[in-house]
Amino acid sequence: MTHPYSRRNFLETSLVAGAVLAGAPRFSRAFGARKPALSLSKGGDVSPAPPKPSFPVTDFHVHLSNTLTIDQALQLGKDRGVQIGIVEHPGPGFPINTDADLKKYIDGLRKYPVRIGLQPVYAGWSKSFSKPVLDQLDYILMDALTLPRPDGGWLAIWQIDTMVDDGEEFMARYMPFIEQVLTTEPIDIFGWPTFLPVPIARQYAQLWTPQRVDRIIDLARARKIAIEINEVAHVPDENFIGRAKRAGLKFTFGTDSRNEHAAHLYYCYQMAQKCGLGEGDMFVPKRK
Ligand SMILES: [Zn+2]
Repeated sequence: MTHPYSRRNFLETSLVAGAVLAGAPRFSRAFGARKPALSLSKGGDVSPAPPKPSFPVTDFHVHLSNTLTIDQALQLGKDRGVQIGIVEHPGPGFPINTDADLKKYIDGLRKYPVRIGLQPVYAGWSKSFSKPVLDQLDYILMDALTLPRPDGGWLAIWQIDTMVDDGEEFMARYMPFIEQVLTTEPIDIFGWPTFLPVPIARQYAQLWTPQRVDRIIDLARARKIAIEINEVAHVPDENFIGRAKRAGLKFTFGTDSRNEHAAHLYYCYQMAQKCGLGEGDMFVPKRK
């Protein structure tokens, strides 16, 4: 695993493994949604794209890469009427490991009209940085997809070859890690909420019991952590978003893109429409 934390692997592997995914409705829907204006619904008929919300929209989950420069990201945002939020990973194997690295990253983006974020992946990442430098970020987004293994190391649960034998057993490990992220990590946005590995993705409705959903919502509310509506994985579902909205949580839209998919929102707009999200339901970064 040369780039174990790149969500690009998830996308590329997933696209290659299309035949496997055909059996997993969450993902086939996700990739159907990548068509610009039309999407194939379950029955194969074509339905119109959901409308762009009337409030200002930001894609808070854009990674710059060798297939997406800052200028390209800005252009896509302009074309699609969407503000851009850039994130980079800190930690071992990534370019941001010290205050100086982080400062350089922030200063490098300052001259562009973008929000500047960070997407840590390892629990305990914040020990490497001082608060004054972290405070210069617009937001910190973290997911719970890099599960610590009991025997050391990590399980990268977004990868297509993630093995899960038993859904309940998996949840018994996943929930405590989600709780750890939501209670101990200094974050503003919870990314990829309720994502399940491919082998158990179809058990979404059974595994995300009201108790588990409410636990996440309660913890996020206690620390004012916003919920990412994730364009790639189509999570969380409408039920979760509705409950979170009623609990007063805020939301972000995120493509987790490193290419021309930046600012291309379909599932997010669909959920905004179905759940009646308004401007007041959306996350606003600290720095004005
Ligand atoms: Zn990401």
